[in-house]
Amino acid sequence: MTTTIIGFPRIGHHRELKFATEHYWKNKIDQVELLKTAYGIRKNHWQAQQAAGIDLIPVGDFSFFDGVLDTANLLNIIPERYKELNLSPLDEYFAQARGYQNGSETVKALPMKKWFNTNYHYIVPEFSKATDIKLVGSKLFDEVDEALKLGINAKAVITGPYTLLKLSRFIDGPTPKDFVDALISAYSDVIKHLNQQGVAWIQIDEPALSFDVDSAEKTIFDKLYKGILASKGSAKILLQNYFGDIRDVYNDVTSLDFDGIGLDFVEGKYNLELVKQNGFPADKVLFAGVVNGKNIWRNHYEKTIKLLNGLNTKAQVILSSSASLLHVPYSAADETKVPSDVKQHLAFAIEKLDEIKELDNIYRDEADGKAALEKNDTLFRSVKHPFNEAVRDRIAGLTESDYTRLPERAEREKIQKKEFNLPILPTTTIGSFPQTKDVRQNRSKLRKGEITKEQYDKFNEDKIRRIVKIQEEIGLDVLVHGEYERNDMVEYFGEKLDGFVFTQNGWVQSYGTRGVKPPIIWGDISRTAPITVAASVFAKNLTDKPMKGMLTGPVTIFNWSFPREDVTPKESVTQIALALQDEVLDLEKHDIKIIQIDEPALRENLPLRKSNWYSEYLDWAVPAFRLVHSKVQASTQIHTHMCYSEFGDIIKAIDALDADVISFEASRADFTLIDQLVAAKFQTEVGPGVYDIHSPRIPSEQEIEGLIKQLVAKLPVDKVWINPDCGLKTRSEEESFESLKNIVDATKKVRSEI
Ligand code: GLN
Ligand code: ZN
Repeated sequence: MTTTIIGFPRIGHHRELKFATEHYWKNKIDQVELLKTAYGIRKNHWQAQQAAGIDLIPVGDFSFFDGVLDTANLLNIIPERYKELNLSPLDEYFAQARGYQNGSETVKALPMKKWFNTNYHYIVPEFSKATDIKLVGSKLFDEVDEALKLGINAKAVITGPYTLLKLSRFIDGPTPKDFVDALISAYSDVIKHLNQQGVAWIQIDEPALSFDVDSAEKTIFDKLYKGILASKGSAKILLQNYFGDIRDVYNDVTSLDFDGIGLDFVEGKYNLELVKQNGFPADKVLFAGVVNGKNIWRNHYEKTIKLLNGLNTKAQVILSSSASLLHVPYSAADETKVPSDVKQHLAFAIEKLDEIKELDNIYRDEADGKAALEKNDTLFRSVKHPFNEAVRDRIAGLTESDYTRLPERAEREKIQKKEFNLPILPTTTIGSFPQTKDVRQNRSKLRKGEITKEQYDKFNEDKIRRIVKIQEEIGLDVLVHGEYERNDMVEYFGEKLDGFVFTQNGWVQSYGTRGVKPPIIWGDISRTAPITVAASVFAKNLTDKPMKGMLTGPVTIFNWSFPREDVTPKESVTQIALALQDEVLDLEKHDIKIIQIDEPALRENLPLRKSNWYSEYLDWAVPAFRLVHSKVQASTQIHTHMCYSEFGDIIKAIDALDADVISFEASRADFTLIDQLVAAKFQTEVGPGVYDIHSPRIPSEQEIEGLIKQLVAKLPVDKVWINPDCGLKTRSEEESFESLKNIVDATKKVRSEI
């Protein structure tokens, strides 16, 4: 046994899981049919891995929504309010993931957060005094049974207890250490059960070890695993880490009774040092993550083999992916429109299976290894990324003043209050309105050549006309054009910029049934023509209210694309920032006086270790944002938006973006961030979201009124905006309009009382 992967994409080759699940939610199919589809997907995926020659196949990595939530549900970490709904286990699970509304009975969804430094989201489990941890679920075992019946050499996969504790939310008193004993006992039961089923390996995922681990956390980690490993049976236990290195616990991990340790040698470059300096126990198996689970480029075999040989260990080495392949699309073979000189460099999930197998052949000197090595070598010798000298020169000429907006924000604030003369607590939205079926159809017709570009534009203009009117009727203060022309906030910009390449089927799960199709950065990036100006100007001319222009920021465009590996992130982000600077100035020239530059992905790419936050990231990411807007006039108002309110620990950096207004998520979580903002004397005006758009639930006017009152009790009233917590594109029009109406009415009510 020499090859494995950490996990496989779940959504299906053609996103079958997405469509089946959404049909189920809409009552178009029943549970039996959904389960049948899910089984078919798992079976295909296992057999694809088997066919590629992967020896040890992950089982349990499949999920209807999220693996962390699966583990929480397996172990009865389900808040009472969901149990009280008396639903089937699957519906109870979906209620936690997406909220529940049935007549007057409504329960909010659990919060959702970015999964480490990826664009995947996990559901945040909730621990409270009432949490009674015990093995209650059967999903993992059922899937193991299925796999074994199909003759799959299964490696059962489960989220580890340390990561579970690290990522969860603790309410009403208890802290992580209070659950250690219960977790030991529940995980021991899981292991016992898997032993009875006869699995060869159990993979316990502990990506949270890539964060800084302090001594109290280390104590928890040691205690958890001493306890769990004490009741180990014949199934071997693999401690699987990814997204970084395990420097803080390397000695603990290697001295505990694990049978295998899985390390990421791609993102966790330092793991190589750890293995070399401290040695790796000869009696354990080293699962070497050498094929990048997060990027789509072919593996450079020569370098990988060098790395593997450099491990210099007597231990058995099993080749693996660096992370779950969840973060890459299904197969590059599906791409018929990617230029062939680019396509030959792509490896998606299916191709990565072959790469692991080929690397294994080379590493172990198997007969066909040599040919594979030579072929790969030729490929890497021929790679040529498009080079843009003008862009490179422009970057070389940048100085401090290019990153500094003048006058200072306080001065601008006064000028802008006069300029726009908005009521207190101005209301607005985050940009997109529902992408209804006709909107998507219109786009697909253009793509298929069934309509002309003029017909396509005309349709969108009618949509804009309608939505501007609707916003006026609802009574919003700052309007948007609705983003009907955008399939996706990153792909849309990528398509208009030089340097990007697009896939047709390169879907990657973002959360639940939502997928994204990240563009691929292939060459130097530049803007060749205005991007959003026409739509914004068209919309502006329809109303007397201010029309907000809408752009995606440089850091988000970069983070939600597959990056190049031959230039630094800083270089690519600066190229994108300059392209967007041209766009901002164009919008301003056309009298668009409020411009929102979305940066929802800014926080998620923070290095996992705090000591690297500034030096490896914020020190260039924040200036890149300023570069985009530094040249606008004082009266032009720059907004930014972040979907997640998780920036309590980088408040200064967020303020240093030097935007005039920031909107962010607040409705699903509590308002702790607001207190932090107040304490840190945050200067940017804020629009904390009062409507959770990730859930189909419509908030009532009273509920919103309550939220607004909480906000103005904490924040200076002249610095607060009222808005939903993200764009409305995934919601239905009925839900959106009703919710917005409630928002506006609630705001008016609060205004009248101030
Ligand atoms: N302006 C975008 C929208 O409304 C922002 C989306 C996002 O933050 N993810 O859709
Ligand atoms: Zn958002």
